[in-house]
Amino acid sequence: MQHYTRDDIVRIVNEEDIEFIRLQFTDIFGQLKNVAVTRSQIEKVVNNQIMIDGSSIEGFTRIHESDQYLRPDLDSFVILPWLPKKRRTARLICDVYNPDGTPFVGDPRYVLKRVLKRAEDMGYSFNVGPEAEFFLFEIDEKGHPTTNTADEASYFDMAPIDHGGDVRREICLILEEMGFEIEASHHEVAAGQHEIDFKYAEALRAADNIVTFKMVVKSIAQMRGLHATFMPKPVYGINGSGMHTNMSLFKDGRNIFHDPNGERGLSKEAYSFIAGLLEHVRGMTAITNPLVNSYKRLVPGYEAPCYLAWSASNRSALIRIPASRGQSTRVELRCPDPACNPYLAIAACLAAGLDGIERGLVPPAEITENIFAMTEDERHAHGIHSLPGTLRDAIKCLKADPLIIETLGEHVYNSYVSGKKREWDDYRTRVTDWELEKYMVVY
Ligand code: GLU
Ligand code: MG
Repeated sequence: MQHYTRDDIVRIVNEEDIEFIRLQFTDIFGQLKNVAVTRSQIEKVVNNQIMIDGSSIEGFTRIHESDQYLRPDLDSFVILPWLPKKRRTARLICDVYNPDGTPFVGDPRYVLKRVLKRAEDMGYSFNVGPEAEFFLFEIDEKGHPTTNTADEASYFDMAPIDHGGDVRREICLILEEMGFEIEASHHEVAAGQHEIDFKYAEALRAADNIVTFKMVVKSIAQMRGLHATFMPKPVYGINGSGMHTNMSLFKDGRNIFHDPNGERGLSKEAYSFIAGLLEHVRGMTAITNPLVNSYKRLVPGYEAPCYLAWSASNRSALIRIPASRGQSTRVELRCPDPACNPYLAIAACLAAGLDGIERGLVPPAEITENIFAMTEDERHAHGIHSLPGTLRDAIKCLKADPLIIETLGEHVYNSYVSGKKREWDDYRTRVTDWELEKYMVVY
C-alpha cells in the first residue's frame, strides 16, 4: 500500500490534473457518503479543515451539535479511474472529528479503530479477507432496476452462458488500477450472481476496501446499463449473496492461528477465537446481517448458514476452516452479508474473537455431518443452536450481549437499534404479495 504525506497529496493533485476530491465516510448503516471539493480547497483538505453538517447523516448528531470535521486518511488517496480522464476525480476516506479535536463516537471507522487498538495492546494485528457476492440485474425502460437477468449461468460457468463476464472483467481491471490485488472472479451459483475476491488486508484497510469495492461494482454496472445489488436475497428460491469473512491474527509477522503441532494444525488461540465467535455471533447478527431481507438468506438449502457450528471443511457450518495452513491459516465466518456496515461487522467479529482468547474459551466439538440434513431433535442432541431468524430476533440478541454493545459504544448502539426497530416496524405492518396470494381468496 502507498504511504502519502500531505505534501505528496497536494503535489499529486496538481500534477495529475485532479479537479475534484471526494471526501468519503460511512454512516452507521454502512452507506458511503461524500462531499466533493475542488482542487482550490486541497490545503484545507490535508489540514483537516473541511467541515460537514452531520445532522442529516443517519446516526450522526443532533441539530445543536452538528458541525464536524473530516480528517482524511492520506494513505487512502486514489484516483477514480472510470471517471473522465481530464480534470480528474480522486477520493480520500476520512475519519470524522468533533470541533474540539476528539474523534466522533458515531463514526463507524472509529468503532473499528477502538477494537483494533485493543488487539494491538495484546500484540496482535488483524487481517480480513471478504468474499462479497452480488447480482447484476437488468434495468427497465424507466431506468428502474428489475430482478431480470438474461444470464442463466451457474457456479463457475463461462461465456456465452455467463452474461456477466465482460462486466466482471472491467470491474477487475478498474480495481487493479486502484491498487486492489484481484485473486479470483467467477460466476456464482444463482443466475445473475457473481463474486470477485480480492486479497486480504489489515482490518481497517479491508473495511475501506469493501466500501470501495461496492462503489466500483455499482458504478461500472451502471455504466454498462445494469444494476448491481448487494441486497442479501433479491430473489426467492435461489441462492442469496453472502460476504464470507476470512480472519486471522498475526503477532510479530507470524500467523498465530497456525500451530503445526496443534490439532488440525490450529493453535489454541485459533480455537478460542472460534469459541468467542460462536459465543457472540447471535449478539452480532444484527450487525453482520442488518436488513429485514438478510434473514431470508439465512435459511436452509442455499449454502447460507443458519446453525451455530464450526467445521474444518463442512460448508453447512457457520464457521469453516479453509484447508490452507502456515501464514494463510484462517477462520471463515459465513453468516455476514454484503449489506452490513463492514467497519462495525469487522469490529464485532474481532471483539468476539479476542474475548474468546482472553477468556481461554474452548469451542464445542467439530460438526462434520451436513447440519441441514439433521432433524431438529438431532441438532438439539448435538447442542447446535440457531442464528436469529428475523431482524427483530437479532435486535433482541444484540440487546442481550454486553460485549457487542460495548464494542459499538453507546452512541452507535442506540442509533443503530432505534433505526433497525423502525425498519422492522415498517416491514411488519406492510401487507405483502404472499399474504394476498394466501389469504385473499380463501378467507
Ligand atoms: N451464496 C452463498 C451464501 O449465501 C455462498 C456460496 C458460496 O459458498 O460461495 O452464503
Ligand atoms: Mg461465493
